[in-house]
Amino acid sequence: EADSRESLYLVSDFAKEYFHNILLKTEEGKAIGLSYFKERGFTDDTIKKFELGYSPDSWDAFTTHAIKKGYKLEFLEKTGLSIVKEDTSTGSPTKMFDRFKGRVMFPIRSMSGRTLGFGGRILTSDKKAAKYLNSPESDIYHKSKVLYGIFHAKQSISKEDNCYLVEGYTDVIQFHQTGIHNVVSSSGTALTPEQIRLINRLTKNITVLFDGDAAGLRASLRGIDLILEQGMNVKICSFPEGEDPDSFSRKNSLEELTHYLQENSKDFITFKASLLAADAKNDPIKKSETIHDMVASIAKIPDAIKREVYLKECSHIMDISEQVLFNSIAQLLRKER
Ligand code: ATP
Ligand code: MN
Ligand code: MN
Ligand code: MN
Repeated sequence: EADSRESLYLVSDFAKEYFHNILLKTEEGKAIGLSYFKERGFTDDTIKKFELGYSPDSWDAFTTHAIKKGYKLEFLEKTGLSIVKEDTSTGSPTKMFDRFKGRVMFPIRSMSGRTLGFGGRILTSDKKAAKYLNSPESDIYHKSKVLYGIFHAKQSISKEDNCYLVEGYTDVIQFHQTGIHNVVSSSGTALTPEQIRLINRLTKNITVLFDGDAAGLRASLRGIDLILEQGMNVKICSFPEGEDPDSFSRKNSLEELTHYLQENSKDFITFKASLLAADAKNDPIKKSETIHDMVASIAKIPDAIKREVYLKECSHIMDISEQVLFNSIAQLLRKER
């Protein structure tokens, strides 16, 4: 078991080097992959730091090369880098395919720097294909337990005593290039308790940054209760319509970005209360639903003093008596404990 995991690490590491070299040293890699990253404004230093890569637009270039270098098909398949199919037409036993054919590659690393898997972005505007493709779950890659960027962010998260949480790979990378290093991404999936625990080891403070497409802002607010449950302080910050942290930081200097984050990061509980209060204005039924929703969030906070402080604030924002909120939280806590 441990031996087999070690083999998966070795194959993943080999693949990371391979894709990176293809990007920097081959004609195809330079013309397609490297120029794509350059157009996105990534510098050579950034590309090297994150070991970005390119997977050739060929059915099996990577797989064939890896086999030639002595890597076993079994491990190539288990990491999902290669897809193996029975070839019924020719009668030969197997046909091998590169999963990430023609994509630019983002290696995903563990807290200690090991390569666990990859995200691959498509370069064509093929509407049928997924924009990003990730490695499948394996013995070394559990997507619910990894955060993209954690290896490069961990020192800065401790030092700044705060962690920015963004949606995508490129948000992490562009923040680094602009000069903010305490940033990680859950890479499009809903945040999990395991991912929050990774951050919790380094800081008690999270600032969640949302893309300015508003899609799912309200839905995402629910996931944040998981952060409160772990006793962490949560701020949230959204970006202007049509911008995400990547596009915004590309257009702004470090000073401007830092200033924007300072001005627009709002305490999660009060942000949510204001948002919900606005939603429910003049609608008593909606308003009572909203209060239940708020109460549910506050009840997640383990610290009783903090709960009390938030309760007072929400009573003010939502125009409802502290006593009613207090009773309703007490009731919830009795149910849950
Ligand atoms: P880009 O700027 O390259 O278009 P993005 O990071 O801004 O990418 P979003 O659409 O904001 O992309 O999505 C955020 C993250 O969600 C992505 O970085 C990726 O990890 C994940 N994601 C997006 N689309 C898909 C998809 N079709 N399949 C799987 N994951 C996806
Ligand atoms: Mn988005
Ligand atoms: Mn985005
Ligand atoms: Mn983007």
